[in-house]
Amino acid sequence: MMSFELTQEQEMLRKSIREFAEGEIKPRAIEMDEKERFDTGLVGKMGEMGLFGMFVDEKYGGSHAGYLSYIIAVEEIARVDGSTAATIAAGNSLGIGPIYYFGSEEQKRTFLPKLCTGEALAGFGLTEANAGSDAGGSKTTAVLDGNEWVINGSKIFITNAANPLTSVVTVQAITGQKDGGRREYSCILVEPGTRGFEAKEMHGKLMWRSSNTAELYFDDCRVPAGNLLGKRGEGFHQMLQTLDGGRLSIGSMGLGGAQGAFEMALKYSQERVQFGRPICKNQVIAFKLADMATRIEAARNLLYKACWLRENNKPFGQVAAMAKLYCSEVMKFVATEAVQIHGGYGLMKEYHVERFFRDQKLLEIGEGTSEVQRIVIARGLGI
Ligand SMILES: Cc1cc2nc3c(=O)[nH]c(=O)nc-3n(C[C@H](O)[C@H](O)[C@H](O)COP(=O)(O)OP(=O)(O)OC[C@H]3O[C@@H](n4cnc5c(N)ncnc54)[C@H](O)[C@@H]3O)c2cc1C
Repeated sequence: MMSFELTQEQEMLRKSIREFAEGEIKPRAIEMDEKERFDTGLVGKMGEMGLFGMFVDEKYGGSHAGYLSYIIAVEEIARVDGSTAATIAAGNSLGIGPIYYFGSEEQKRTFLPKLCTGEALAGFGLTEANAGSDAGGSKTTAVLDGNEWVINGSKIFITNAANPLTSVVTVQAITGQKDGGRREYSCILVEPGTRGFEAKEMHGKLMWRSSNTAELYFDDCRVPAGNLLGKRGEGFHQMLQTLDGGRLSIGSMGLGGAQGAFEMALKYSQERVQFGRPICKNQVIAFKLADMATRIEAARNLLYKACWLRENNKPFGQVAAMAKLYCSEVMKFVATEAVQIHGGYGLMKEYHVERFFRDQKLLEIGEGTSEVQRIVIARGLGI
């Protein structure tokens, strides 16, 4: 059966999050961006709104609202602010995801309840200074010494990992060698305050300026052997699965950001009068808006299809890569045209649209660059 209709619950969810985003996030977005301020109070409010743990079972504190509902939530937050959407997207997909899908019962019971209320946040440490797209080139190691892992190395660009709410970071490390000499990777949970672990906030980003980004350092950092996430040697597989889900949330940030920039451009074009008539009455502007609307519609259909595949336990990796790639490129196109339609005012902070123009750039880089998405898609084609 083919249906393009959202459920009544999903429509209501969209409406309530839109109201929240307009009322609570939009008024602070410019200042948070300007001051690079990560607002923990806002995280708490988003927790109260039920924006964390939407795909998590109720017994761990989640709302079990489903993956598409979560994607709609991220889309609505991204419609007003990319940084805040990043906190939600990373908090769910990268923070909660690995613990929920691969953690032991005890790990889930320890961390998930607070992660699901927004009282705590978790990070996912994969990227290293010399291992970005090539995650297999990472150097961080974890050696089992008695009943403790001893971790050494560093991570970079880790979202939600250095703020007062960070309760745990999932760290991918080399834990040995597999048959044939291949490296064995495992994921290990590290809590702030552990000796030998330091998290430093990174500043000076072009985009997502009010999201929390961190460098992580491990210097003979010892954690209990029980902090291993899932089975030893499954770290690479866990990372790939986490990124498949993460791609959908980056896609929804692209879709939501494109929607927000489009709405601003449409409104402005109807109000701005030049040569005696609103600028939207010029066919060249009307056609820009038509192209923007068309691509947004196509992006939404592709992304929701990927979510449907995921929710119905069908293979979704390749379509998720397509959705991430396409939604990012649609936001780039829409945000660029939205600034153009605003003319000089589009370059000024108070018009918000310049922030969307900056924020879109990360979507083509984070959680696998657009080039990497094309590699994934091409592989799926058997190339
Ligand atoms: C704000 C922000 C938040 C982030 N959050 C997280 C996080 O929470 N956790 C985490 O682990 N990481 C995170 N990252 C890291 C992010 O996933 C990486 O930046 C990304 O994977 C790219 O890696 P890189 O920056 O090292 O670029 P590189 O891998 O060095 O790539 C540089 C360029 O080379 C291209 N390239 C590389 N290899 C190939 C190839 N084989 N073929 C064609 N082109 C290629 C790339 O597409 C890119 O254009 C974050 C990054 C940022 C900026």
